[in-house]
Amino acid sequence: MPPYAFFRNKYVPLAEAKIGILTHALHYGTACFDGIRGNWNEEEEQLFLFRVRDHYERMLKGCRILKIDLPYSIDELCQITVKLVEKSGYREDVYIRPVAYKSSEAIGVRLHDLEDDFFVIITTLPPYLDADKGVRCCTSSWRRIDDTMIPARGKITGVYVNSALAKTEANERGFDEAILLNFDGHVSEGSGENIFLVLGDKLVTPPSSDNILMGITRDTVIQVARNELNTETVERPIDRSELYIADEAFFTGTAAHVSPILEIDHRPIGNGKVGKVTKELQRLYFDVIKGKNQRYLHWCTPAYSKLVETKPSQVKD
Ligand code: PMP
Repeated sequence: MPPYAFFRNKYVPLAEAKIGILTHALHYGTACFDGIRGNWNEEEEQLFLFRVRDHYERMLKGCRILKIDLPYSIDELCQITVKLVEKSGYREDVYIRPVAYKSSEAIGVRLHDLEDDFFVIITTLPPYLDADKGVRCCTSSWRRIDDTMIPARGKITGVYVNSALAKTEANERGFDEAILLNFDGHVSEGSGENIFLVLGDKLVTPPSSDNILMGITRDTVIQVARNELNTETVERPIDRSELYIADEAFFTGTAAHVSPILEIDHRPIGNGKVGKVTKELQRLYFDVIKGKNQRYLHWCTPAYSKLVETKPSQVKD
């Protein structure tokens, strides 16, 4: 089975999904995307798409910011995605990338008077960070882009130049990942992950007003910690120095899963090993995303059974 893409309202082999070099989004970063995981459950021989609807709700919020108008409802976007996964037939973990973009082949910086389009691709993804061993981080010399510049709450392609600058700087300095501070010096997030600290018996994470992407893994961890560990998460501004004195720290993200942070700016976090709370949350999280915890099955859409029920679709095969 060749890898397929959903492109211009059809399922086509990936190699046939091409856009022109004048495409607006390529020149000006005028696109919104998302990243969705499909998690393979060996016992059930099933690929579970995790919180697919929540990912599309977030993408559509980004579309409102960018004035991108798609002809699909949320139900249809979910249906398109399930069908693409089913057609592709993977029996391993996959990563799904939907992109809504300004598709006009036109020069000129603006959001209005342009055509919009949408595609989805599916791929495998090598481990993004080492979730087993943990990661070493630095605070970045790059600051997180502010909502008054480009809203970070939308997963807007142009925003990712900010992340790319920070990630490459961190890697070139010998670290695994960067932690970006806001312009006022408070902690925002990693280049592609939200950050949590364990401080005493609480989890602490930056609030939406600190220029974070409102992560779906972040929300998953907040809910699972509350329900399963009786641990509340406090959303509040975090000082840089609190990073150094935390008992534990970890990143969350669709690509990064729950990844322990062992060191920040050459200071060990806690005892410099993967912490107890992080380990427990990681264990719970992996069960949840693989559809192994009944309580959270409503977040897992099976790709290899009947398609999710939706209204009649305008999508062509
Ligand atoms: N922040 C940024 C900048 C990201 O790119 C991501 C990855 N989507 C996240 C946080 C985590 O979000 P999620 O858990 O929804 O993947």
